[in-house]
Amino acid sequence: MADLKMDVVVVGGGFSGMYMLHKLRTSGYSVIVFEAGDGIGGTWYWNRYPGARCDIQSMEYSYQFSDELAQDWEWTERYATQPEILRYIEHVAERFDLMKDVQLNTRVGRTEFDEGTNRWQVTTDQGDAVDAKYLVMATGCLSSTNYPQIDGLESFSGACYHTGKWPHEGVDFSGKRVAVVGTGSSGIQSIPIIAAECDELTVFQRTPNFSIPAHNQPLDPGFVAKIKGRYRAFRDENRLTAFHADFDYNEENALDVDPAHRTNEYERRWAKGGISFMAAFADLMFDKNANATAKEFLHDKIDEIVRDPDLAAKLKPDGVVGCKRLCVDTDYFATFNRDNVSLVDINETPIRKITANGVEIDEGVCDVDIIVFATGFDAMTGALTRVDIRGRGGERFSESWAEGPKSFLGLGVQGFPNMFIITGPGSPSVLTNMLPSIEHHVDWIGDCISYLEERGVARIEAKADAQEDWVAHVNEVGDTSVYPQCNSWYLGSNVPGKSRVFLPYLGFPPYAEKCAEVANNDYEGFELSA
Ligand code: NAP
Repeated sequence: MADLKMDVVVVGGGFSGMYMLHKLRTSGYSVIVFEAGDGIGGTWYWNRYPGARCDIQSMEYSYQFSDELAQDWEWTERYATQPEILRYIEHVAERFDLMKDVQLNTRVGRTEFDEGTNRWQVTTDQGDAVDAKYLVMATGCLSSTNYPQIDGLESFSGACYHTGKWPHEGVDFSGKRVAVVGTGSSGIQSIPIIAAECDELTVFQRTPNFSIPAHNQPLDPGFVAKIKGRYRAFRDENRLTAFHADFDYNEENALDVDPAHRTNEYERRWAKGGISFMAAFADLMFDKNANATAKEFLHDKIDEIVRDPDLAAKLKPDGVVGCKRLCVDTDYFATFNRDNVSLVDINETPIRKITANGVEIDEGVCDVDIIVFATGFDAMTGALTRVDIRGRGGERFSESWAEGPKSFLGLGVQGFPNMFIITGPGSPSVLTNMLPSIEHHVDWIGDCISYLEERGVARIEAKADAQEDWVAHVNEVGDTSVYPQCNSWYLGSNVPGKSRVFLPYLGFPPYAEKCAEVANNDYEGFELSA
């Protein structure tokens, strides 16, 4: 027997969960948010590693639902740090009195759909039992950490940390010998700072990554005033772009312009800094030869920065630029010019095991006091499939997605009625500026719930054919791009044993048009039952 009867249970208190709560509560529904952490913020709560900051510009990495909030909040830097983003979400929670409906330190456990009542029976590890009509999964795309299985890890006598679960009290690296495993965004952001603090740093690299300088700086008040003078229009304009962000898109194709013009464009973007480098030419993600021109440019930059040519060669990615998420850094490549930093390419000298004293490779043991795993996440599906969700007929959610995620629009899943997913696989999410994509999903779900409630609909569920067509379409569009040409978390190939499927949907803003069309056609593609 449930202790509590609610309209909606939201799982996760990050940016999605908090806005979902606000949206639904404003529409008059009863909502409870369960959050596993002892604070809100989701990814920005857990990822407290040195150097953690957003690589979307802060003037665009914020909610848009309240003009007053947008005007009042003052970001201090071009790219906001993790502590500043956490302060922002805490401010939002306080401003809109959200915490009264958030239960922290609570992990959702077995959650079953009751076909008799068309309601979800949600339980938690704190003994809660909630009967709710709707279940909204706001569990985040990058929240289930990927901890490598390396022999001997348990025998290590020093301290081990994962960038995605960083201790709140911080880590003192001074006087320490440190190993960092992993050179994705988290590794690339933290390595320069750890190097400056510690005695010796050894970086264990499996695949080098492309990275663009951030050129982070304090925000110029004149620039902020200009944006805030037309904030709503500025954000609306970005909504119509491929990355949902102000990336200064160039419509030219790299292969249609002469080499000098091309290099100028790359130089201009390198000097400006940030991931808008990918908007230099329209064909970069769709034509391997076009992409190769960007690769050559970025290889030259590594040669210019890294003094030792052998080291520079090891740091040059062989793959397609942007195929793995492009990184943004502050002094990453220059860090390898430091005397206290060395690089181990684990393709040449694999990690054999971890010993009590450090990391063993063919050439011997690299003695360290601290190992930092910057090894990423079981992205997009991990946080969803680890919740024990059982849908119609007791179907386990984790089993229904065992061979890859299946959904209609990334929002609803056949067999799991009255359940919605925010920025899940099958939606553009991680290929765009996450915050506006979160808001887009929350608004769509909130409006859908209001539609259903106004019409007395008991149950909504994705139809089998709509779901099948959508999954096929997501794969088809993914295959037109260069994304499938490497191993990345976009494909799940960073996690041993995970099915290789292109997870996000490449197609913003057409995706938003499709979502609007579905809603305008009375949620066509979903089965609605009275
Ligand atoms: P990631 O991009 O998946 O990088 C993980 C790194 O660890 C890769 O270099 C990977 O090598 C390596 N690795 C994984 N398993 C390994 C193993 N068993 N042995 C050795 N190396 C291993 O993870 P991340 O850096 O945490 O970033 C994930 C995503 O979070 C980013 O792509 C980005 O979307 C987001 N993020 C954003 C920011 C930002 O806004 N600035 C900052 C951090 C993260 P392989 O490449 O060979 O798999």
